Amino acid sequence: MGTSVLHIDLNALRDNWRALDALSAPNVETAAVVKANAYGTGAAKAARALQKAGVKTFFVAAVEEGVALREALGPSPEIGVFSGHMAGDTDMIADMQLTPMLNSLAQTTRHFEALPGHPFGIQLDTGMNRLGLEPNEWDAIKEIVMQAGPRLVMSHLACADEPDHPMNAQQLTCFREMTDGLNVRRALSATGGILLGPDYHFDLVRPGIGLYGGLPFEDAQPVVRIECPVIQVREVAAGETVGYGNTWSAEGPARIATISAGYADGIMRAISNNAVLFDGDTPCPLIGRVSMDLITVDVTHLPQTPHALDLICPHQTVDELAQNAGTIGYEILTSLGERYTRRYIG
Ligand SMILES: *Cc1c(COP(=O)(O)O)cnc(C)c1O
Repeated sequence: MGTSVLHIDLNALRDNWRALDALSAPNVETAAVVKANAYGTGAAKAARALQKAGVKTFFVAAVEEGVALREALGPSPEIGVFSGHMAGDTDMIADMQLTPMLNSLAQTTRHFEALPGHPFGIQLDTGMNRLGLEPNEWDAIKEIVMQAGPRLVMSHLACADEPDHPMNAQQLTCFREMTDGLNVRRALSATGGILLGPDYHFDLVRPGIGLYGGLPFEDAQPVVRIECPVIQVREVAAGETVGYGNTWSAEGPARIATISAGYADGIMRAISNNAVLFDGDTPCPLIGRVSMDLITVDVTHLPQTPHALDLICPHQTVDELAQNAGTIGYEILTSLGERYTRRYIG
């Protein structure tokens, strides 16, 4: 096989959801965010596994993702759409029974005119200045909106991965001021907010990254393993160079494995000369530049030539690899492309 294999552990995914669910009170619903192809793991498979574990509400970023998800999950779960009700979305929202999280006056007007009586949620901006109604806008339309019976009123935290950041309490206060006393279900927290404790939980929480084994959920089980097949192995002599730009040269005789994975598979070029792959428990340095489809690895110290090397595995988590690339686990996961063979466990 000439492509890398993405092993996706659906048991770990379900366990992570259960573990996050256990962090909030029993009356708090734990939804699941499956946008961006369920953070690269495959939205249909991941969402079906989560549905079996008891997830009743899913969230996606765009209506198009919601359509595919509805086809995978059938009629029962609620599917919320963070980008709300955009021009051109009306038929998909109606046909696929999606719940747009309306985020502006214009969207609210559009939704009420195009689909009166159709379920919706409201997004409030509590300081992140990204999506949602500002406090003064909310004041102006709150009464009309509440009469229409929103399914959920939500906001999003900007700094939840930093528990001591004053922005967390500031946004909590703002959210309370905007929603206290209203007869509606409320949601403020993604993975980071769940870990901030019960004040942040309200009626529903919306974890994404923690389900897929990423920080800030430190107790997460790993969900993803990347296994890269070795295509060729060669001996190089002292002084020979490897890869584009001759950025690595052998100090002594070396054995170099060429594996099938590259930046087209979301393995960032920034880890060139700065990561390891694993043969079982044994680390093997990535050498030279990451190219589009190939990576070169020093396997001189291995007693036998391996058939494959692991890039993400229990010895090197998504977040550790991300750190080498100067990014975050979210970006690594969502960059994993279409070329992998995705193999599901559980
Ligand atoms: C992506 C997203 C989430 C999930 O966030 P994680 O940090 O991955 O848990 C929740 N809510 C909103 C509005 C989002 O955009």
